[in-house]
Amino acid sequence: MASCDKCTKKAKFSLSYGPINYCEEHFSSFFEKRFRKTIRKYSLLKKKDVIAVGVSGGKDSMTALHLLNKFYSKEQEIKALMIDEGIPKYRDKALALAKKEVEKLGIELKEISFREKLGKTMVDVMKKTGRKKTIGSTCSFCGPFRRKLLNEGAKEMNATKLATGHNLDDEVQSIAMNFFDNDLKKMSRLGAKTEGTKNLIPRIKPLYLTPEKEIIAYANLNEIKYFGEHCCPFSWQAKRNEFRGMLNQMENKFPGTFYSVLATFENLKPLLKGKFKEEKFCENCGSSSSGKLCSACMKLKKLS
Ligand code: SF4
Ligand code: ZN
Repeated sequence: MASCDKCTKKAKFSLSYGPINYCEEHFSSFFEKRFRKTIRKYSLLKKKDVIAVGVSGGKDSMTALHLLNKFYSKEQEIKALMIDEGIPKYRDKALALAKKEVEKLGIELKEISFREKLGKTMVDVMKKTGRKKTIGSTCSFCGPFRRKLLNEGAKEMNATKLATGHNLDDEVQSIAMNFFDNDLKKMSRLGAKTEGTKNLIPRIKPLYLTPEKEIIAYANLNEIKYFGEHCCPFSWQAKRNEFRGMLNQMENKFPGTFYSVLATFENLKPLLKGKFKEEKFCENCGSSSSGKLCSACMKLKKLS
């Protein structure tokens, strides 16, 4: 392998979209610089923000938590928020690991579960969606429920921002899925930052410009503990997996594809601004909603 672009050491990381070669030390500093640059570029944080970080125990959220704590815990306050969807042998293990790490960092933690807030776990949802496939895939219930509880939990923690571990790959998959579904309304809500409303805590994605592969490399290099043993047992149903496979193939053949899709989205986004603005509130729970019921309440109704 070539030598590091910044020093004379042997490169350990070759980032094909550059091409850029880095030794371990320069890879970590490049990674951290991009993290901070993302926060500056998209104005993700203000002084005195109280940041609730949605932590699942996976590599993305654990890395986001570590970096926010490393660089932003002086001027901002960092808290951790965990949602237990009730997925046995998966989320229980991941959350136990995350809890230990959060405690080690001395960060305030709040835990919420689907069972306590919604009266259902993802196993209950799986039983219903398994029988009646027409009501939607298991994951199509999990996402809205988790988003709702993250928002409620962040409010209860008096957070001014809700940070998630979404990375570049996730964002590009969402852009492509919405494009294929002709869902410009959903697409208009993507981006590094979602503005808050009366009932919605602003959401930020500090790993928005960071490829997944590099998060794994950084976490391993910097001994950030995360749960990476298994995939969610219900993920086989996710349409997202198809898009992940297709987009990864494109990125491998044509390095830089992810950044290019993101740039296309960022050029389109201003054109979508204001087109879908009309804000409503869910008749059942008061959350921001595009119709009479928010998507979580609509999904709960389908399950009843
Ligand atoms: Fe939920 Fe689907 Fe993700 Fe599993 S893969 S945690 S069911 S959204
Ligand atoms: Zn609702």
